[in-house]
Amino acid sequence: MLFLLLLVAGIVGTESYIAYNTTNTIVSDKINVHLVPHSHDDVGWLKTVDQYYVGANNSIRGACVQNVLDSVISALLDDKNRKFIYVEIAFFQRWWRQQSDAMKIKVKELVNSGQLEFINGGMSMHDEATTHYIDLIDQTTLGHQFIKEEFGQMPRVGWQIDPFGHSAVQAYLVGAELGFDSLFFARIDFQDRAKRLNEKSLEVVWRGSRSLSSSAQIFTGIFPRHYDPPDGFTFEINDVSPPIQDDVLLFDYNVQERVNDFVAAAMAQANVTRTNHIMWCMGTDFRYQYANSWFRQMDKFIHYVNEDGRVNALYSTPSIYTDGKHEANEKWPLKTDDFFPYADHPNAYWTGYFTSRPALKGYVRTMSAYYVASRQLEFLKGRSSSGPNTDALANALAIAQHHDAVSGTERQHVAADYALRISIGYQEAEKVVASSLAFLTEPTSSIGQKNPVTNFQQCPLLNISYCPPSEAELLNGRSLVIVIYNPLGWKREEVIRIPVSTEWVTVKDSDGTEIESQLLPLSNAAVGVRDYYVRAYLGKSPSETVKYWLAFSASVPALGFSTYIVTTAKQTDRSSAISTVYTSEGRTNTTIEVGQGSLKLLYSADEGKLTHYINNRNLVAAFAEQSYSYYSGNDGTDKDPQASGAYVFRPNDTFPIKSESQVQQTIVRGSLLDEVHQKLNPWISQITRVYKGKEHAEVEFTIGPIPVDDGIGKEVTTKITTTMKTNKTFYTDSNGRDFIKRIRDNRTDWDLQVNQPVAGNYYPINLGIYVQDDSTELSVLVDRAVGGSSLVDGEIELMLHRRLVHDDIRGVGEILNETVCALDGCIGLTIQGKFYLRIDHLGEGAKWRRTVGQEIYSPLLLAFTEQDGDNWTNSHVLSFSGIDPSYTLPNNVAMITLQELENGRVLLRLAHLYESGEDKDYSVSASVELKKLFATKKISAVTEMSLSGNQERAEMEKKRLVWEVQGYAQEEAEVVRGGAVDPAKLVVELAPMEIRTFFIDFDYLQMFGS
Ligand SMILES: [Zn+2]
Repeated sequence: MLFLLLLVAGIVGTESYIAYNTTNTIVSDKINVHLVPHSHDDVGWLKTVDQYYVGANNSIRGACVQNVLDSVISALLDDKNRKFIYVEIAFFQRWWRQQSDAMKIKVKELVNSGQLEFINGGMSMHDEATTHYIDLIDQTTLGHQFIKEEFGQMPRVGWQIDPFGHSAVQAYLVGAELGFDSLFFARIDFQDRAKRLNEKSLEVVWRGSRSLSSSAQIFTGIFPRHYDPPDGFTFEINDVSPPIQDDVLLFDYNVQERVNDFVAAAMAQANVTRTNHIMWCMGTDFRYQYANSWFRQMDKFIHYVNEDGRVNALYSTPSIYTDGKHEANEKWPLKTDDFFPYADHPNAYWTGYFTSRPALKGYVRTMSAYYVASRQLEFLKGRSSSGPNTDALANALAIAQHHDAVSGTERQHVAADYALRISIGYQEAEKVVASSLAFLTEPTSSIGQKNPVTNFQQCPLLNISYCPPSEAELLNGRSLVIVIYNPLGWKREEVIRIPVSTEWVTVKDSDGTEIESQLLPLSNAAVGVRDYYVRAYLGKSPSETVKYWLAFSASVPALGFSTYIVTTAKQTDRSSAISTVYTSEGRTNTTIEVGQGSLKLLYSADEGKLTHYINNRNLVAAFAEQSYSYYSGNDGTDKDPQASGAYVFRPNDTFPIKSESQVQQTIVRGSLLDEVHQKLNPWISQITRVYKGKEHAEVEFTIGPIPVDDGIGKEVTTKITTTMKTNKTFYTDSNGRDFIKRIRDNRTDWDLQVNQPVAGNYYPINLGIYVQDDSTELSVLVDRAVGGSSLVDGEIELMLHRRLVHDDIRGVGEILNETVCALDGCIGLTIQGKFYLRIDHLGEGAKWRRTVGQEIYSPLLLAFTEQDGDNWTNSHVLSFSGIDPSYTLPNNVAMITLQELENGRVLLRLAHLYESGEDKDYSVSASVELKKLFATKKISAVTEMSLSGNQERAEMEKKRLVWEVQGYAQEEAEVVRGGAVDPAKLVVELAPMEIRTFFIDFDYLQMFGS
């Protein structure tokens, strides 16, 4: 009391204006409370990205990012000690282009002085479970390039505060390989957090990759609770925390009381944190719409807390905090693998979103691959400054990686907005692809003399059997020209399928030789999906009636194309062979064998079930079944009111899907492939394909509309069952890259208390999942992000679709119940997708998972035109490779980026596809000859860059902070990395799992001179 009186006495009699001292920096012998002002601005969630930016649709949520940036900038200009971090470049770009030159100069000064710092710096704060690593690299590159060009800055810190679990790829690839010194986030499993709080192990050194290990480690900080301030320190206009009242002329003066609150909260956090640095996240979702409301309070807290002197409070950023941690010379606990799955409550495992909105997930994946291919073609033609380009698709895909976008946790109108943006981007990229192919098919002599005139059409709805150019009846004497582009760096042989309206067709290759082809009937499910969805998407019915899929085998060179011709045969001539069709209904006790090549699948005729998998080449034979089930979603009416919803998977019970009678099964056989058509119930059907030339089975499923009129949400799964003894162990990929070992009902970092034996064992899958025993391995690859597990030994389970009737109370406030509307109303969404399965001898599965995995990601791209007689084929280039025709990339390397930048430089990324120890042949260093990759150009310079291309790799390595790990320093094996590129030889070496990024300059004079 005496102290308070003195304090009051001290103030009375001074001027009423108080100049707050906010100059404090780190003090070495005190607890430093780093106040980090931030606003978490979702790039779409309850509102669309543009609605959030302009502050529209405020009845849903009062949020306007324009207000955040306007008011933060003016608050920073008011006091040079204040700091702020900005994260989501999609928003910042929208704001930046509306600023005057004078304002831009001021903002650049704020950035140069460190008052405003860009961290993370991708277009969005991407999801980590349902994203592919190529998309993560691309969306981060886009944001980093903007920051570099406008401000000359390179972000130092990863800030993934909100995503629902954290991936290994985030740590080592879109973390350490970007040059980040640290990574921060909030959400980890509540059991894990409790243990880490207890052991002061919330801050760790994370080695996400077994292959790259300490060479790609990152200091990682997990917040003690969430990404908001301690209770009582939130200061948005409507927040309820008591402000500091320091005017003695007013009532309720409370300086000492609030200083005590501050010190108490700081001491509590210091008790669970190593070193004398703690971070307070001063902000949360869409805060700082009136920034002074926060800064006024922080100014006062810093002033009075430092006068008090028990702790040191300062305006800070995560970079300053990281440097403080680093200078403390502490040894940190080691973290390996990842932070999946995430649970915030015993019955709330956030594993439902691994599958939520499967159509959007599939669309994002398809367009991701199209973006890779279209940039290659844009490069092969030469980027046009005026014409169409791939930028709109790049921007749309970048936003779609946000943690409420591809994750499926946004509202319906926001999901539609992401899809619309992608489709607009696609339409422009489609023009790039068409004009590049037109250019490349022109004979060399005519290049530069005239504009190529071929008008190539593409078929984005080919997945639902709709392709107008191939369906159209060919007029007399005309034929269909198909140019097939291969975006991979190795040659491919694959079966192409296009819908046709007549059986009188033949296929010729580019030499004019007729090749084997096969006609397959469309399944009833495919016809149904085609008719309904063409109407839903295009507002009209398909004009043709498609009778068949025409299948033929195409051979396409690396990074190049081949041409195939489909002609109408006269009815007397030989035409494509119609498959034989065989229905198993009514037969008993017989086994049906499917497959014309090495792989045979055996089915029991009476049950209509897969029973055996046999490969006659490598003599793998296994009992194998495949089935469907669904989980009934918990409705949240028991004593724990947690329902299954967009985020959370909380099953009530599981129900096998068995039709009342036997499964309707049709066998389709031909020279190239066999198909098994099965209708499992009125809303699930599938086609299993066995290609003569492939040793895996392809399963195309059609699921929906899932019936929910019984008031029960349903989450549909498929299971592959074998007799393998897999000892609770399975492997799932991290963002399509490293495989991580999972053990059922177990976590590496703590003793798991099992609350949800199904949902708690689900993991995200982007590439695939496999199990193994002492002789065999079973692998399944997917075509989009899904959730999956191995809940029983020998078994793999994938969740393919979900439709629910309750909200799971995690903020979205809308039920995940997707519908699609055509002219006559709306029905539940039907999903069509694929997975692929194969069984190998132990140790032989990786080759298939990696090579075919890359082929699934990057399918062959088809473009169509028509010709009269042979007029087009006679005057055009029918086969082309963008690299030296005698060269191919090694089987363990993919070119994941080939892009001409605006300044004419080329961005090249090469990725080793194997982990160390994964395959006896391919888990070795690989080399790529750049001279052969760019055979027609003269390379003048090759500069190795950071992953996002914003700084030279050598500079990045020099600046990198070195962190020490508790107890592990000595015994780690030396990590292998490719060496520097010799400017004379121009050979790039890649060690297992390495991705290397280069800027390549060409000598254009030389090129045109040759
Ligand atoms: Zn968020």
